[in-house]
Amino acid sequence: MSWDDKIAFVTGASQGIGRACALLLAEAGARVVVASRNLDKLQSLAGEINKENEPVRALPLALDVSREDSIKEAFQKAVEQFGKIDILVNNAGIARDGLVMRMKRQAWDEVLETNLTAAYHCIQQVLPGMLRRRQGRIINITSVVAQMGNAGQANYVASKAGLIGLTRAVAQEVASRKITVNAVAPGFIETAMTDAINPEVRDKLLSRIPLGRLGQGLDVAHAVKFLASDEAAYITGHVLNVNGGMYL
Ligand code: NAD
Repeated sequence: MSWDDKIAFVTGASQGIGRACALLLAEAGARVVVASRNLDKLQSLAGEINKENEPVRALPLALDVSREDSIKEAFQKAVEQFGKIDILVNNAGIARDGLVMRMKRQAWDEVLETNLTAAYHCIQQVLPGMLRRRQGRIINITSVVAQMGNAGQANYVASKAGLIGLTRAVAQEVASRKITVNAVAPGFIETAMTDAINPEVRDKLLSRIPLGRLGQGLDVAHAVKFLASDEAAYITGHVLNVNGGMYL
């Protein structure tokens, strides 16, 4: 199956890693549904991908992954427009950091809902079609901290470790239908999520990265594109680290 025949759905595509994934998949030739809460940013992203007088290749959709009704609506619209979804990238994610002793239930719930429960809902939306067509790629964006832990991020780390478990369980459930389910675990990537980190902590983190630089959204996007490709047909239940050697 060539990239031109593939439809990808990327959650949290308005910026950062999700945006880089959408652009790279589109550059390869796939049509992409770019979904997130910020429709303005998505429209400008779609504007970069869509060419005048050519069929639509990027569809911007408003989506709040913490709401099940919003998820159902977005996937319904995506299928109405493109007919199917071949590749799902569960990328939308948030952090609400704090020590577990003082962590409010709301901060716990918001992070688990957005980072983990949403992936389960999105997977349920795409699986029936993938099972029917006996093909599909599901890629969950987890994090290096799912493997190494991180003080002050109990909710985030639990959600990202949960994503790895979800990946492995679903991989086993759907392997017989040639659907692969994998995770990509970025290290420290330069995006809005990491911009807020103070310079001192940043330098300390940098000193722990053997490849000597922070990652870029594109570094992660290349891993996602590979796992979405036909060439990765024999890889499932895998966690692909994109962390500059930060956790070996
Ligand atoms: P970002 O904050 O720049 O982007 C997050 C994206 O998720 C945005 O598009 C945002 O609109 C979207 N999003 C958040 N809540 C949403 C909701 N309720 N509904 C729909 N969309 C929502 O961050 P990023 O660094 O690009 O993060 C992307 C993913 O990569 C996240 O899952 C994050 O946990 C993961 N990650 C990031 C890093 C890093 O260093 N930046 C490291 C490991 C993992």
